[in-house]
Amino acid sequence: MLLVTCPWCGPRDETEFHYGGQAHVPHPADPAALDDRQWAEYVFYRENPKGPFAERWMHATGCRRWFNALRDTASYRILATYRPHEPRPSPQPVETPTAPPSPGDRRAAGSSGGNR
Ligand SMILES: [Zn+2]
Repeated sequence: MLLVTCPWCGPRDETEFHYGGQAHVPHPADPAALDDRQWAEYVFYRENPKGPFAERWMHATGCRRWFNALRDTASYRILATYRPHEPRPSPQPVETPTAPPSPGDRRAAGSSGGNR
């Protein structure tokens, strides 16, 4: 059973919560100026990362307040929860590419070490 920490009520069972989609999606400044494609992208298009992802959740059977959660989509582990006006905590940067340069660096270091 997964425990979700409501920022107002504390840890509660996951069955008390409803998922609300991606957090921090900015509302268009001038919605009437958008064409159909731009409006569809605002309404329907969401990121789908593997790893930390900021989401909206609602404590449906508790305080009924919305809050944000930073959840790892690969492990389902909730890394942090925070109130909507608070900035997103970043235990790991979400937007950085996950291609690690370290294996190449390690190989280069190992080959140069082997040549000496
Ligand atoms: Zn609550």
